[in-house]
Amino acid sequence: MSVLVLVEHAGGQVDELSLQAVALARDVAGGEPLAALLVGEGARDAAGGLGAHGVATAHVAEDERLSAYAPGAWARCLTEVIERTQPAAVVAAGTNRGNEVLAHVGARLDLPFSANCTAVAGGGDGLTVTRMRWGGSLYEEARVHGTPALLTVAPHSVPAATTNGAGAPAVEPFAPALDELDLAVQVAEHVDAVHAGISLAEAKVVVSGGRGVGSADGFTMLEELAGLLDAAVGCSRVVTSAGWRPHTDQVGQTGTKVAPDLYIACGISGATQHIAGCKGAKKILAINTDAEAPILNSADYAVIGDVAEIVPAITAELRRTRS
Ligand SMILES: Cc1cc2nc3c(=O)[nH]c(=O)nc-3n(C[C@H](O)[C@H](O)[C@H](O)COP(=O)(O)OP(=O)(O)OC[C@H]3O[C@@H](n4cnc5c(N)ncnc54)[C@H](O)[C@@H]3O)c2cc1C
Repeated sequence: MSVLVLVEHAGGQVDELSLQAVALARDVAGGEPLAALLVGEGARDAAGGLGAHGVATAHVAEDERLSAYAPGAWARCLTEVIERTQPAAVVAAGTNRGNEVLAHVGARLDLPFSANCTAVAGGGDGLTVTRMRWGGSLYEEARVHGTPALLTVAPHSVPAATTNGAGAPAVEPFAPALDELDLAVQVAEHVDAVHAGISLAEAKVVVSGGRGVGSADGFTMLEELAGLLDAAVGCSRVVTSAGWRPHTDQVGQTGTKVAPDLYIACGISGATQHIAGCKGAKKILAINTDAEAPILNSADYAVIGDVAEIVPAITAELRRTRS
C-alpha cells in the first residue's frame, strides 16, 4: 500500500528515530516505494540519504516561517501532502513531535490515530497494529480504521535498516498554505540536552540517578563516573521534581527514551514509568540498597549497596586500572 512517512531531521541529517519509523513503514508498504515529508530548513539535504532506506519521493515543505517547530504548521504541511497524494497510511516516529503532529492531523481530518506501534500486519479493511500502552507495561493488538491509517512507531522497537535500493529520492518542494493559527504555537528557544558533548538520547553509556542519590550534590559522583565512561547523566522524575537536575535529564515515559549499551541505575526503584525510558538498554546495572527493588526485575547486573559507597568505588577502580 502507499505510505507517507513524516521524517524529522536536524543539521541536514535524518533523526535516527525517523529512520526506525521508515523501517516499519516499509513493512506497511509491503514492497511499494515510500514517500516522505520533510519540513523546514535543511530538509533537502536530509532527504538525500533517504533513498537507501526505500524512499522514492521526498516532499519538502519550504517557508521561512517553518524554521522554528510549530505543530500546527507541520500538521498543515502533512495534511496538504495527504490530500494531494492520498496515501493509505501515514507513519511517523513516536517522538514528542511525531505524536503531536499526528494527533493534530487526526483532529483536522477526523481520523483515529494509533501511537507507539511496534509491529503491523496489513490487508483487509485496515491495519492490525501491536502498540505499546501504559509506558510499555502492556502491548495491545488493535485494528486501525480510517484512511489514511495514522500511526507512530515506538522509539527503539524497530531497528533502522537500509535496503539494497536506489540513490537519492525525487525531491518535490512545495510552499504550504500556512495561516496565522498554524503558527500560534511554536518553539521559542532550544536548550540542548548535551552533557560534555554527549547527548542523553544517543549515549552508549548512561549513568542515571534517582532519589537514592540523596541530593543535587550527590550527582557530582555520578558526573565523575560518567566522565570516565564517556557517558551521559540521566535521572528519574523524583530527581527532576526535586529540582536536583533539569527535566532534559529525565529518563522515562515523560522524559527521554534511551537505548545505550549500558544503563547504570543508581538509587532508582524501577517504576514502570522509568523503565519505559530505559528498557531499550542492552544491559542494565542497578545499584540499590534494597534487594527487593523492582529495578532488579529488569537489571542484568545488580550491586546491593549504598550508591555513596559503590559509585566512588567503581570510579576509583576504573582510575586504578587505567593508570
Ligand atoms: C504519569 C506519570 C509519568 C511518570 N513519568 C516518569 C518518568 O518519565 N520517569 C521517571 O523516572 N518517573 C516517572 N514517573 C514517576 C515514577 O512513578 C516514580 O515515582 C519515579 O520513577 C521514582 O523515582 P526514583 O526511583 O528515583 O525514586 P523512588 O521510587 O523513591 O526510589 C528510590 C530508590 O533508591 C533506593 N535507595 C535509597 N537510598 C539509597 C542509597 N543510599 N543507595 C542506593 N539505593 C538507594 C531505594 O531502595 C529505592 O529503590 C511518572 C509517574 C507518573 C504517574
